[in-house]
Amino acid sequence: MNSQHFIELDETYSAHNYHPLDVVIERAEGVWVYDVSGNKYLDCLSAYSAVNQGHSHPVIREAAIAQMHKVTLTSRAFRNDQMGPFLKELCEYTGYEMALPMNSGAEAVETAVKAARKWGYEVKGVADNQAEIIVCNGNFHGRTITIIGFSSEEAYKKNFGPFTPGFILIPYGDAAALEAAITPNTVAFLVEPIQGEGGVIAPPDGYLQEAASLCARHNVLLMADEIQTGLGRTGKLFASEHEGVRPDVVIVGKALSGGFYPVSAVLTDKEVLGLFQPGDHGSTFGGNPLGAAIGRAALKVIQDEDLISRSRELGAYFKGRLERIESDYIKEIRGKGLFIGVELKVPARRFAEALRDRGILVKETHETVLRFAPPLIITKEEIDWAAEHVEAVLMMD
Ligand SMILES: *Cc1c(COP(=O)(O)O)cnc(C)c1O
Repeated sequence: MNSQHFIELDETYSAHNYHPLDVVIERAEGVWVYDVSGNKYLDCLSAYSAVNQGHSHPVIREAAIAQMHKVTLTSRAFRNDQMGPFLKELCEYTGYEMALPMNSGAEAVETAVKAARKWGYEVKGVADNQAEIIVCNGNFHGRTITIIGFSSEEAYKKNFGPFTPGFILIPYGDAAALEAAITPNTVAFLVEPIQGEGGVIAPPDGYLQEAASLCARHNVLLMADEIQTGLGRTGKLFASEHEGVRPDVVIVGKALSGGFYPVSAVLTDKEVLGLFQPGDHGSTFGGNPLGAAIGRAALKVIQDEDLISRSRELGAYFKGRLERIESDYIKEIRGKGLFIGVELKVPARRFAEALRDRGILVKETHETVLRFAPPLIITKEEIDWAAEHVEAVLMMD
């Protein structure tokens, strides 16, 4: 079957809620994906950083298969022998006391919002239904009604209202705006240390540190959405660490499963997640043994293969290569580790298409930005190869 056949099926039967590049992937291994005609592509998106460990990593694959032979789902009506060890390993690795496992990233963000409100009422003493959470312009935290309700993107919201109240939008990267927005009812500041969907935008140096001290001073929880930036993507375990900040709440997802399965979690100390009582929250699949076994293997691969150092070193190398490109189209190159945004002065889509034709998969984000986020197992030689093609397409007329 050729690509066109599958594209037609998608167009006929799938809601048109995406605008994908027309490449129909049949299999993948490591940094490489293969389409239905046997063409090979270097994946420079990593499913929005869900496959930081590389596609179908053998260690995670074997753990998944072994667990599939045992038990996949118990629901949390009963206990299983994978969730506890998974959360212990996750907490020890990240330095938090407790975790609440969910599936998608958006569910973990919703969970963090619930946890922050609960903490606000039960610990901080905010009056009933008055809790406020501060968020940033340009944010991306997922697609549920509550989450899009506090997006600044009109396209995410149009005709989906009414929305959940209790959120305050402020400019990203502006600590004075944060201070001005804090009231006695503020329970949390929810922020991405680097805005991924917003176009790989890093705030000014010192911003997160200032935000952390403002939050501490006003008894507000600092909640970092590290779903895309976490687990090594930016050259640290969490992007917050670039400023030495330890958020009160960290939200993880995507690479927590290495792309095998939706696995997400909220991490905090006992003061926050310790407030949850039976019946307060739940998910049929959250903490399931298959997801937990996959999560354990995914974390093991990050550590065993030293993917965080790889991201830091190879990211610096890749960025350096891109910075040498002398193209009039380039406005700015930014990012940390293997999380690089190349902002163009013109729409980026046709460059993404030209790169696909040369065997490199990237996706434009925010119209004019090409995001380069290959699996962290990429080699220097593969980066060299990719950089040559990026240079060639950015020299097109
Ligand atoms: C992808 C993403 C989410 C949402 O995760 P889903 O699994 O798609 O629900 C939330 N926040 C950030 C920063 C993300 O990149």
